[in-house]
Amino acid sequence: KDLFSPRQNSAGIETGERQALAELIAERSRVKVAGLKARCGATTAQAAGASEAVAIHSPVDGASLGTSYHLSASATRALVAEAARHVRAAEAVPASKRAEALRKAAALMESRDADLLAVLTVEGGKALDDAVAELREAVDFLRFYADEAMRLFSAPCELPGPTGEENRLTYRARGVAVAISPWNFPLAIFTGQVAAALAAGNVVIAKPAEQTPLIAALAVEILHAAGFAKQHLYLAPGDGRTGAALTAHEATALVAFTGSTETAFAINRALAARNAPIAPLIAETGGINALIADATALPEQVADDVVMSAFRSAGQRCSALRLLFLQEDVADRILEMIAGAAQELTVGDPRDLATDIGPVIDAEQLAMLRDHIARMEREQTVRYRGEVPADLVGKGHYFAPHIVALDRPEALEREVFGPILHVVRWKAKDFDTLLDAIDATGFGLTLGIHSRINETAHKVIARLSVGNVYVNRNIIGATVGSQPFGGSGLSGTGPKAGGPNYLARFAREQVVSVNT
Ligand code: GLU
Repeated sequence: KDLFSPRQNSAGIETGERQALAELIAERSRVKVAGLKARCGATTAQAAGASEAVAIHSPVDGASLGTSYHLSASATRALVAEAARHVRAAEAVPASKRAEALRKAAALMESRDADLLAVLTVEGGKALDDAVAELREAVDFLRFYADEAMRLFSAPCELPGPTGEENRLTYRARGVAVAISPWNFPLAIFTGQVAAALAAGNVVIAKPAEQTPLIAALAVEILHAAGFAKQHLYLAPGDGRTGAALTAHEATALVAFTGSTETAFAINRALAARNAPIAPLIAETGGINALIADATALPEQVADDVVMSAFRSAGQRCSALRLLFLQEDVADRILEMIAGAAQELTVGDPRDLATDIGPVIDAEQLAMLRDHIARMEREQTVRYRGEVPADLVGKGHYFAPHIVALDRPEALEREVFGPILHVVRWKAKDFDTLLDAIDATGFGLTLGIHSRINETAHKVIARLSVGNVYVNRNIIGATVGSQPFGGSGLSGTGPKAGGPNYLARFAREQVVSVNT
């Protein structure tokens, strides 16, 4: 069974034999994670006792993993004020030194792979293959932004001087950059945002999701060890109140955010309400992502790619497939294959090699998924119900794959973040209506097309405003540098993470024109 074999990212990590790695991770997660505490970097505010201790529990089995601190609003304000004092010094670090520290952090992450994978599995609930892919992505981000720092920051860009003047464009740091990251990629997205903000010479305050501060603490520890000064990179663990205090502060010069569309709206409002310089928001949010398969597609390939896109990482990716459109003539056959493949997936402890699908992140997400299925039972047709193995019931937050047949695409009203696939049938004459329905969601993150007719793919691509389109393959796991990731509309602002325009947004441009 090789449904979830990870694709290679540009920078591979030698994982050795999977069995040996799994044993090492199990060992590390027992010994190391038990004592791990989330640390707050150099927060004077925390030392002053202005934060609340919060226990972190594993989604795998509820075990206590350590303690995090939720910074209060006043502690957060003190932290931003402290960070702001180091803005000039951070920018004065040459780009080559910042790039060197990022590359060193990449090497340190590779050498500490078992520790990081252990925390990703027990704190984030990541199945082993997902954890390995995530660590690779974090390492890729570090190396990619190191290269980008050299490209953009090491020398000014000479511009034409038709009037006889010398014109030079340089990229300068913005100041205090706030990075707010999600629990679903608690290492890769966290590291990507922070690495870009540091690469551009900013002072960075990184707020991890409240569910996953431990892996963030490890990443920050590694970045400090790699050479970034404690005064230039701070960890700000906390909940929504911490995030709100960070975005409301007038010294915050930029916010990079990945999470829900609602929170992106709230950040936008908070930034707009400040009597302070206009700060840009780089938002990457969700999507009701669709895959369209027509009658010319290869059924086996569709089934494989759908199962991977909808269920891998327990469907907890913003790129994940939510709405599958199957052309009527092939729908039954493909659906049967998908249900058969879903049945083969093992839901279990993410440290077990046999596990394909680990737990969802917390009780709240689990309740949301159960409520959604209960509603679908009433209003639509649940075609396949996966079952959580009896020994896991009541242990962690497990939810098995489900497939729901919808009578119309609009019946899925919002993004449901978990392993639930919704399927709609379509007839050739309704193709344009189908595209309208996808457009009407307002989201535009990922889209899949399975067809052997090139014109169909071209038509869909031209018609829909979607950030990442995948033709005849799965729709998850964008590779840094090759498949820059991010959407438009309700799915985000751009620029795309891991792409050529990302780093520039973390900087401000300055042009110097000299009359020679
Ligand atoms: N970059 C990831 C992917 O392509 C998704 C990131 C996310 O879920 O926020 O699957």
